[in-house]
Amino acid sequence: MPVVDSAEAAGRRESGPGSGQSAAPGSARVGTAQTGTEQSGPDRASALSAVPAAGSRRGMPPTGCVKFFYGPMDCGKSTLALQLDHNHSRQGRRGLLLTRLDRSRTGQISSRMGLSRAAVEADDDLDIAELVRACWAEGRRVDYVIVDEAQFFTPAQIEQLTQLADDVQVDVYAFGIATDFRGRMFPGSTRLFELADEAIPLQVEVLCWCGRPARFNARVVDGVVAREGAQVVVADTAAGTGEVRYQVLCRAHHRSGDLGPDSGEGTIPLVDPR
Ligand SMILES: [Zn+2]
Repeated sequence: MPVVDSAEAAGRRESGPGSGQSAAPGSARVGTAQTGTEQSGPDRASALSAVPAAGSRRGMPPTGCVKFFYGPMDCGKSTLALQLDHNHSRQGRRGLLLTRLDRSRTGQISSRMGLSRAAVEADDDLDIAELVRACWAEGRRVDYVIVDEAQFFTPAQIEQLTQLADDVQVDVYAFGIATDFRGRMFPGSTRLFELADEAIPLQVEVLCWCGRPARFNARVVDGVVAREGAQVVVADTAAGTGEVRYQVLCRAHHRSGDLGPDSGEGTIPLVDPR
């Protein structure tokens, strides 16, 4: 809010008496040429910009960052979440780890490569901003929040995370899947795409059985690609975990439902990022 207010105030100053125009594109040059007093200095807006020069950021409180790392199942999101936590904690920063419906279901972030770390298991009612303030009240620092399985968080919880970034400079690193088994967005992921400073596709390529990049998480029920059902049914990508499993497919094979020659074998193994 203060940013908008000050920008508007600066705009009113610039387009005051003498300019003869409102802040339309190109009017800044006309205005400053006529008044002749404010045009110099490094903070002046470009002549091509309709935005007045109130955006230097100096004097504004810093904000935390909100980054959303997304990719299909099996692309190493939890591994990267744990690596990021390691990198930050090694330099003395303190993190709060959150997850929801992690494959281990025991209040931790666990990766398929065998790493794990204790985490707060969230539910729909958890207010993340309140949780962070409660940590602070107990004297426990929280410099950043790592959210694994971010697609399962509610849009309201995503907004709480962005408030933490904007109001109290907590950095937010969210890891999740963008789309569900039908190829439709999860609400939590949608809100992250809308609000995050950066949405970053993960670099670890996951491949369909045909060798093409796999961006779709097919739900396989009794050997057939499901087309309808509840958005959230937790199962692993490994075969033999019951009659519901997930398999990553390319768009064409997600559409056709072709699970490939070894459809009982689960996914092609994760491509090692090293
Ligand atoms: Zn394919």
